[in-house]
Amino acid sequence: MTAAIISDIHANLEALKTVLKSIEQYGVDTIYCLGDIVGYGPNPNECIELVRDKCDHVLIGNHDYAAIGKTNIEYFNQYAKAAAYWTREHLTPGNKDYLASLPFTHQNDEMLMVHASPTNPAHWYYVLNPYDAQIEMQAFNQPLCFIGHSHVPVIYSESDVFRGAYYTFEAGKKYIVNAGSVGQPRDGNYKACYALYDLREKSLNYIRLEYEVQKTYSKILKAGLPPFLAERLLKGY
Ligand code: ZN
Repeated sequence: MTAAIISDIHANLEALKTVLKSIEQYGVDTIYCLGDIVGYGPNPNECIELVRDKCDHVLIGNHDYAAIGKTNIEYFNQYAKAAAYWTREHLTPGNKDYLASLPFTHQNDEMLMVHASPTNPAHWYYVLNPYDAQIEMQAFNQPLCFIGHSHVPVIYSESDVFRGAYYTFEAGKKYIVNAGSVGQPRDGNYKACYALYDLREKSLNYIRLEYEVQKTYSKILKAGLPPFLAERLLKGY
């Protein structure tokens, strides 16, 4: 039994297609999407339609929320704000309705899933360090909590931080796992990222994939989105 956890696609169709193809090759049983399907990138409608078609459980992220006019974007930086307005103008009414229907969390006995933080899923806090993680761990009872939002693949245990490709979870311990970002990685690696979780082995693999980043780069410029949003994709920041 394997689950794929994807997050922070940000309307990057080339990265999403590459990730979904990889997931298909691994023969994954369940696909979870932790939100931020849109925002920053040039293909919001296409990405929503693919996610809707391929993912079993989909959550809402702060950029999805902004795209339907629900997030106060005053705190967004100038690039995020420009992209949010652009996305609002370009989304179809049907896709806006779909985003509006998405929940903040999904959970079962083994895991909680949320876009930003388990303490308050609707407030979009960031979990950026072990100190944040210790506080957030009080907010759930399952062994695992999967998050996105920071675009950095990292695993926090109660006593440690792991930044690598493969991790085995220990029974009786709690973890917060950031799935990384499909469409706008910010860990200095431009390759699309997602997490493959083996439910029997209790292990996790971060998969990194080359994709047609130059194509996404050109589309962002052509769409009239801020050039910075294209440039950051090439370096993964
Ligand atoms: Zn995001």
